[in-house]
Amino acid sequence: MYEQEVEKLQKIIDDSNRIVFFGGAGVSTESNIPDFRSADGLYQQQYKYSPEQIVSHTFFVHHTEAFYEFYKEKMMFLDAKPNPAHIKLAQLEEAGKLSAVITQNIDGLHQAAGSKNVLELHGSIHRNYCRKCGKFYDAAYVKHSEGIPRCECGGIIKPDVVLYEEGLDSSVIQRSIQEISQADTLIIGGTSLVVYPAAGFIDYFRGRHLVVINKSATAREVGAELSIAAPIGEILDQILVR
Ligand code: ZN
Repeated sequence: MYEQEVEKLQKIIDDSNRIVFFGGAGVSTESNIPDFRSADGLYQQQYKYSPEQIVSHTFFVHHTEAFYEFYKEKMMFLDAKPNPAHIKLAQLEEAGKLSAVITQNIDGLHQAAGSKNVLELHGSIHRNYCRKCGKFYDAAYVKHSEGIPRCECGGIIKPDVVLYEEGLDSSVIQRSIQEISQADTLIIGGTSLVVYPAAGFIDYFRGRHLVVINKSATAREVGAELSIAAPIGEILDQILVR
């Protein structure tokens, strides 16, 4: 499938030495991690809140138990495995052709696939800290805790995940901009070019090849040299690392 597009992408990758990949929710859906925003109406009926409201700082503070009920079930998928997109990106980095993966996902699957330089714009479910003493806890501890996960000191544990109303980590943004500004090729996958924050980041791109691979890629992706309307894993799986 997509033979012509894959051939064009292969040429671009062969011609690149400093690729940066920017990925959105579509990268994780192929590992069967649903976008939490598509969570069914059950929770909204129960709490009268939208997924976006539940995953907000205010909700975390005032309805911590309900936050965790949603978060553990709809955002923590500890059995998920890297898919061909994660694996190919790790191989490209290993081969010295890719310098960074910038992701909006919080599942840690790029690291699980072997990627080293991963810039997590929205944090990670794998890092959790006590709000009182700062002690670190892993994802399994949070997922398997009863109700609100608590530290041994009694403090409430908070995931190192950027909630609505919270700002992105400025050092992660800085490093992302630096990587993009030094890239010769920028591949945007599993998200649209026209949606924040990808739209803001590409202003810093000065390289030769801009590629978008997204199921719902459209003709509106005008800035891209190559736009492939397909699942990212299916495309990257066919790329040769050489
Ligand atoms: Zn503590």
